Amino acid sequence: MTRTLAQRINSLSPSTTLAITAKAKEMKDSGIDVIGLGAGEPDYNTPNNIIEAAYQSMKDGQTKYTPAGGLPALKDAVIDKLKTDQGLQYARNEIIIGIGAKHVLYTLFQVMINPNDEVIIPSPYWVSYPEQVKLAGGFPVHIEGTAATDFKVTAEQIRQVITPKTKAIIINSPGNPTGMIYSARELEEIAAICKEYDLWIISDEIYEKLIYGNEKHVSIAQLNEDAKQRTFIINGVSKSHSMTGWRIGYLAGDAKVVRAMTDLASHSTSNPTTTSQYAAIEAYSGSQETVTSMREDFESRLIRIYPQLKAIPGFEVLKPQGAFYLLPDVSEACEKTGFKNVDDFAQALLTKANVAVIPGSSFGSPNTIRLSYATSIELLEEAVRRIHKFVEDNWQA
Ligand code: PMP
Ligand code: GLU
Repeated sequence: MTRTLAQRINSLSPSTTLAITAKAKEMKDSGIDVIGLGAGEPDYNTPNNIIEAAYQSMKDGQTKYTPAGGLPALKDAVIDKLKTDQGLQYARNEIIIGIGAKHVLYTLFQVMINPNDEVIIPSPYWVSYPEQVKLAGGFPVHIEGTAATDFKVTAEQIRQVITPKTKAIIINSPGNPTGMIYSARELEEIAAICKEYDLWIISDEIYEKLIYGNEKHVSIAQLNEDAKQRTFIINGVSKSHSMTGWRIGYLAGDAKVVRAMTDLASHSTSNPTTTSQYAAIEAYSGSQETVTSMREDFESRLIRIYPQLKAIPGFEVLKPQGAFYLLPDVSEACEKTGFKNVDDFAQALLTKANVAVIPGSSFGSPNTIRLSYATSIELLEEAVRRIHKFVEDNWQA
């Protein structure tokens, strides 16, 4: 047997977030009135000043390769952003620009993980973390954040799963799919454990700008110098500036790791798209007005839709503090409507109620479904109405 796939790919499952989004779009294109609450992407167009800057850069002849790790001017814009927003100081050799935060994370795992190294991933988690760890030859080790602890994990839970093979922990705050935010105190306890066992910290802060009510975003790297030295901040323009299609993300952290990631990029992707990098420079250095207005818009959608979702029989839902997802526990609704599991329930919502959601099993949270509220309030209300009706119509007393 020579014409076979590599072993590392055999156990890989496709990204359900992307697959369900594509399926909903396909149904829509074929004339079915589907409302897609699967996609985790802002529904606004990229702000005009950013589009104009990209266009101008092309007209100015900036259409060639850049350094593999990104344009120095974009690294400088990221450095300024980290200084302004987090009060953190980084040098250029501690920053790499990549093809979206997803690819930055992928490259990080490739240079960090040895066979059988363990990475602690709190659940519910974003779908790509475990797959990326496995692709690098590592083992994802899950610890569960439950509704009782706002889906967050404690330092004590982390301690219990640390072994000599543990290399890193992922902290994603505000979290996808939970929308929950770790407080400075919670992060301090986590940072102390990471210091005690000398672990890397991967801090995915892609939803940093999407925070509601009186909540605040604290990066674990801000806590103290030791925490900063062992943390990789991952962020990008996809969510904050509605730029998912431009594919620009970055990492800030240890210079030798950044060097290794840059070397890997130099043999795999070369630089992220030049035009997108110029767009990202404008995103970080230009007006931040649209970042604020998009945030406000998301918050008003949340305020409107949360009580309506909560009112669905058999749905238990916590109010998220950030990002743009709701994660109801639907186990009772699922049982009362006669479905054997939440995957089947979510599938029926798509085919019978014409609403696309992501089953929580993709996030290590099998009793839940994830709804993205990054869509218009009219569509959101109609989607929740459809789900409500579906549950009531199928309820078996
Ligand atoms: N991290 C999390 C938690 C996300 O939800 C996403 C969104 N896909 C990403 C990283 C990657 O974002 P992007 O690759 O678009 O920068
Ligand atoms: N982060 C988004 C989501 O979770 C986009 C899709 C993806 O990259 O997985 O839906």
